[in-house]
Amino acid sequence: MNHIDHFQEKLDALKLQGQYRQFKANLSSEFILQREGKPLINLASNDYLGLAGNLALREAFFDQLPNEQRHLSASSSRLLTGNYPAFEQLEREMSQAFGRSVLLFNSGYHMNIGILPALSDSKTLILADKLVHASIIDGIRLSSAKYLRYRHNDLVQLKQFLEKYQEDHEIERIIVVTESIFSMDGDEADLKALVTLKAQHSKVLLYVDEAHAIGVRGERGLGCAEQYDVLDQIDFLVGTFGKALASIGGYIVCHETIRNYLINFMRPLIFSTAQPPISAAWTQFVFQHMQSLSAERTHLAHLSSYAWQGVQALGLDCPSTSQIVPVILGEAKRANAVAEMLQDQGYYVLPLRPPTVPQNTARLRICLNQNVQQQHMVALFEYLRQWL
Ligand SMILES: *Cc1c(COP(=O)(O)O)cnc(C)c1O
Repeated sequence: MNHIDHFQEKLDALKLQGQYRQFKANLSSEFILQREGKPLINLASNDYLGLAGNLALREAFFDQLPNEQRHLSASSSRLLTGNYPAFEQLEREMSQAFGRSVLLFNSGYHMNIGILPALSDSKTLILADKLVHASIIDGIRLSSAKYLRYRHNDLVQLKQFLEKYQEDHEIERIIVVTESIFSMDGDEADLKALVTLKAQHSKVLLYVDEAHAIGVRGERGLGCAEQYDVLDQIDFLVGTFGKALASIGGYIVCHETIRNYLINFMRPLIFSTAQPPISAAWTQFVFQHMQSLSAERTHLAHLSSYAWQGVQALGLDCPSTSQIVPVILGEAKRANAVAEMLQDQGYYVLPLRPPTVPQNTARLRICLNQNVQQQHMVALFEYLRQWL
């Protein structure tokens, strides 16, 4: 048996299903991309505040950071010799903003595969929204908890599960896991209602991933938890710096005891080299700057609501309540073709197909960012109106 043939056959099967993945030519996080000499407006990036492409901000950062603090490697875990001041300073700054303890991780992926296994045992039940991110699913799989998924945003079903397991003597703790803004539909969880459910069930702890909301929501950009005034009531409030914050890393806002517990039990934190300290210094610089960007957040909110109306005017359902706006077209081929046509007109929009999204819900995903202007949306929806 030729082993390479075995793997190649699996790849060929993916190609037949139209699900083969490969890297594209690097198009960067700039707002205007260049492809074959033609400019494209970037509607596919997670750089929601346009900070990753902001050269002036980058220069200001380097200007204030002396060379001896530009550490490009931590060379070990924070528990050995890698606990650079940049990490503690960022944690202190975030802790002041959020009002609770903060712990950093190398990435959002590390965060989600590490926290749930560390906190769970066989008497823990994890109840996760059906559409949570792959990194959360992987974290659940690595944990020794029992787990169930509830239908997406279906708090009636969640409540039924909670009532049942609140009475189950085998279960000591129930961790309810959700995102605040979801990445496929751009819709959001009802955090207020979740907090109310938690108050009614003593075994419940809440885990909320704000990956797409940090920087974008709330007066100071602290996320949906700030916007809905529930910052103190979410036990494990997590997020990533890789999206609106234009950096790299993950964080949890939690009780100090939980922070200490994670430092002792969370394997991706203990057994991986900490991220480069210069990245944490940059994150802190962006985190400070980001809190004052309410005009940008307002612009993004207006643009988003214009786009939802644009989708509805096409006669399509629009589940989105955020800057992530899906145009659900059904068949993968159709989504591919329309995305291609938009790209020809100068809009870099990507299609999402099964298995990333459910069968027959292939879509365009328009990711808005602070640099997009309403006139861009007017023109884009005019094209869609002609084609669909
Ligand atoms: C992007 C994302 C992550 C992963 O974060 P990284 O910092 O990119 O590893 C985790 N959770 C959600 C919901 C995400 O969208």
